[in-house]
Amino acid sequence: LTVKILIKNADIITCNASNDVIKNDFLGIKDGYIDFIDTREEALKGFDADKIIDARNKLVMPGLVNAHTHSGMTILRNFANDLALEEWLFNNVFPVEAKLTPEDIYWGTLLGIAEMIKSGTTTFADMYLHMEQVAKAVFEAGIRANLCRSPLKDGDGSVEDSIRCFDYFREWNNGANGRIKVYIEVHSVYLFDEDTLRTSAKVAKELNTGIHIHVQETVKECEDSIKKYGMSPAEICCETGIFDVPVIAAHCVHLSERDMDIIKNKGVNVIHNPTSNLKLGSGIAKINEMLDLGINVALGTDGAASNNNLNMMEEMHIASILHKGVHRNPLLMDAPGVLKMATLNGAKALGFEGEIGAIEKGMKADIILIDTDKPHLCPINDAVAAVVYSAQGSDVDTVIIDGVVVMEKGELKTIDEEKVKFMVRETAKKCCS
Ligand SMILES: [Zn+2]
Repeated sequence: LTVKILIKNADIITCNASNDVIKNDFLGIKDGYIDFIDTREEALKGFDADKIIDARNKLVMPGLVNAHTHSGMTILRNFANDLALEEWLFNNVFPVEAKLTPEDIYWGTLLGIAEMIKSGTTTFADMYLHMEQVAKAVFEAGIRANLCRSPLKDGDGSVEDSIRCFDYFREWNNGANGRIKVYIEVHSVYLFDEDTLRTSAKVAKELNTGIHIHVQETVKECEDSIKKYGMSPAEICCETGIFDVPVIAAHCVHLSERDMDIIKNKGVNVIHNPTSNLKLGSGIAKINEMLDLGINVALGTDGAASNNNLNMMEEMHIASILHKGVHRNPLLMDAPGVLKMATLNGAKALGFEGEIGAIEKGMKADIILIDTDKPHLCPINDAVAAVVYSAQGSDVDTVIIDGVVVMEKGELKTIDEEKVKFMVRETAKKCCS
């Protein structure tokens, strides 16, 4: 079954190598891939679209990549606020999470996916509990995701059971028409020990896959690591083989020069989560130094309990203005650079390089349309600046993932939004009070 979608009158932010913004174009999608981008009417000959989308008064751009989140944590949205990370995580989050059933996680994840699609995210990296439920939700919702599985048993921080990683990998890696990739979860060096770090690295190498981990989020994490291992988290990750495979490293807020060298030399992908780092009072990562060193930096929201939303439009805005202000330098984190962090760099970090992150012929069709017929987006003047500085998540009008329309005119096509909200409210009543 061939499915062809034609987008006409399209002003396209391509996010290609030369950052082209193309005006008044035709964009053809065939069998999940971008088939052509052309201004000439002749290009349509023989295309015979099943569906035509008029992009007048809209911006067409690649879907955003939320490179670090815990989508099921939507259940804990606004639950424990104004606390430091350790108090927040160990004494508030973990006790609630212990009460969550697999089914609760399924509904919480669907709510997170609904929120992400509605604000323009088409791919995300997720780390959470009961990941078989997360895979099910991703499969059904039609979104793209990098999912990770811990080799430790749920609810038992020390017992290792790497068989579950192999089973999960076999079941889901490259599943859902290639929309799902499976990595190994290494939550952090504080929840793992030297043995389980080494085992995790071995499992990832055996499966020829990557690792998703939190790295040096707080000063306390770094101090505790020195006490526990005699090394910083980055150093012990290097020592135990964690950094020998593709790595999604969330936060990296407190890096010494040596840590930064390790991350650069090992090709570790750093995920910047500015809102979560600010809200938990963790600090501000040295993103500009990392970018100058050539480290791949992508952008993430982190979970809804420390943000408290999964809105990548907001994350781009904050990432851009935060570093300008802190360094008193408006030239830092320019709009095209920040948009690249939220698209191409995210695709690279999550193992989808060359497949998504830009609008180019032959790429998979993960595309969003922004409704610009709004006072706060009038006039456009500069399309990329409009997206990074003026647009809101709620301006996202239509979302296409893997060539399938999953949202049209603000309405989700693959998720029963009302039912999902009802189910999560019930879970919150049960677990968060
Ligand atoms: Zn996190």
